Amino acid sequence: MDNTNKMILEFESRSQNESFARTVVAAFAATMDPTIEELADIKTAVSEAVTNSIVHGYGDCIGMIIMRSFINGNEITVEIEDSGTGIKDVKKAMEPLYTSRPELERSGMGFSFMEAFMDDLEVESVFGEGTLVRMKKRIGNQIIKGLSKQTG
Ligand code: ATP
Ligand code: MG
Repeated sequence: MDNTNKMILEFESRSQNESFARTVVAAFAATMDPTIEELADIKTAVSEAVTNSIVHGYGDCIGMIIMRSFINGNEITVEIEDSGTGIKDVKKAMEPLYTSRPELERSGMGFSFMEAFMDDLEVESVFGEGTLVRMKKRIGNQIIKGLSKQTG
């Protein structure tokens, strides 16, 4: 099978669309035959990125969020893009426990989760214009990981 695929989805920044986006990406990734754990990792990372676009990017406004996903061999890429407020200092925003909204009882762990659950995370943001989060995960290399653990 030719293992490349691509999808684009656009939806409003409403909280119910967080689970919608997570379910769509899981269905899209299913063709890669991921483990339950790998699928859960992708869903969690996508939820965090979409929630950020809803809560921080658009805040009290409703705007559009674009989700793109690409499959290339055993690697899946997911992009979450908004045209919201953007981030002034991306490096600081990505620090564990940093949140600009402590009053909302945010813990500042969203980017840390994305980093932990995916193999690669890139954040591009222009303050006043919007944010693009690009995450990549390789599927099905847990056997290789297991082997390298055994052999050191
Ligand atoms: P948590 O995710 O634990 O509920 P949080 O959302 O504040 O808390 P992160 O997800 O790590 O923590 O994000 C850190 C900070 O980066 C946010 O507080 C916010 O200031 C900024 N940020 C993240 N995503 C966006 C976005 N799409 N648009 C604007 N600002 C963002
Ligand atoms: Mg967050």
